[in-house]
Amino acid sequence: MSRALMLHEDAPRARVVELEDNQLPDLPVTVDIERSGLNYKDALAITGRGKIVRDLPFVPGIDLTGRVMSSESPDHQVGDEVILTGWGVGERHWGGLAERMRVKPEWLVARPEGMSAEQAMAFGTAGLTAMLCVMRLEEAGLTPQQGPVIVTGATGGVGSWAVQMLAELGFEVHAVSGKAEQRNWLMSLGAYEVHLRSDFEAKGRPLEKSRWAGAVDTAGGQVLANLLAQMHYDGKVAAVGLAAGADLPTSVMPFILRGVSLLGVDSVMINAQRRQQVWQRLASLPANLHSRMQLETVGLDALAERAEAMLDGTISGRVLLDPS
Ligand code: NDP
Repeated sequence: MSRALMLHEDAPRARVVELEDNQLPDLPVTVDIERSGLNYKDALAITGRGKIVRDLPFVPGIDLTGRVMSSESPDHQVGDEVILTGWGVGERHWGGLAERMRVKPEWLVARPEGMSAEQAMAFGTAGLTAMLCVMRLEEAGLTPQQGPVIVTGATGGVGSWAVQMLAELGFEVHAVSGKAEQRNWLMSLGAYEVHLRSDFEAKGRPLEKSRWAGAVDTAGGQVLANLLAQMHYDGKVAAVGLAAGADLPTSVMPFILRGVSLLGVDSVMINAQRRQQVWQRLASLPANLHSRMQLETVGLDALAERAEAMLDGTISGRVLLDPS
């Protein structure tokens, strides 16, 4: 028997339930979960404010880490420390906001040597995605010498990791946030300057004064359109989120007059080799990055309320689940 947050058709939508092992999905590897993350997508699923989950009842949670409790796969032995992110888990397949879950072997990556469960989920999908953005920008040729970079949604999971990682790599990082009161924290993460989100929300011109060599954008919508208009010649933008909207009211001008590159970043379906590569890179980051991250660890019973808070924009950093 194990506990899980389960979403239902009837109210209240999100309830903590007890499940027998034979009620879990019939998949080969059973993981005892040590930590999971509460991500933006999970908040949309839990509250029902976004169409993330179609079939109810459903256990949400797009990432988890834990130990293999039983395995019918030669690739995973009992006791192995594993991480799962993406692959539609928490969307089409039952996810990590639970004490125990049964999963497919190919979804799992080994937790890097020396990385604790808490550190793994402090990164979680957010840290993995932030590192994917950094690698996309690097692979496109961006270097700190080319000029400042900008990160939107900077107090969120993806944004706050992106600020830290880019600062660590020597970039002059400008953070955009809706939370003026988090300025000091963002500076402690390595931000060179913090800008108010409201400065980026009004409709601007197709091309503005060029300000940024690179960008990580978690907002989409008008915010992304304005960033594109402010990029340097040959600027590079990693587009990763839609906190401000899924539309993109831009023109071709930044692309055809300044050679700006818009780089899409997806963390859900990237292949196993790339995942392993990203986790190794995360493991190589200095441990003091973790001490600066704002972490809030909650139990299963608190998740529904924290999901509402996340969508209301009042959370900074990462919210973790300790299901024990
Ligand atoms: P969080 O909820 O942790 O962070 C989102 C942040 O966006 C908030 O903290 C806030 O930061 C900012 N924000 C909130 N509302 C708005 C708004 N109306 N306009 C602009 N910014 C806003 O979420 P995550 O960091 O987990 O995810 C961020 C985005 O990235 C989401 O859209 C998510 O779906 C997407 N994502 C995409 C992935 C992929 O594979 N492509 C993987 C993971 C996430 P502040 O107050 O500092 O501005």
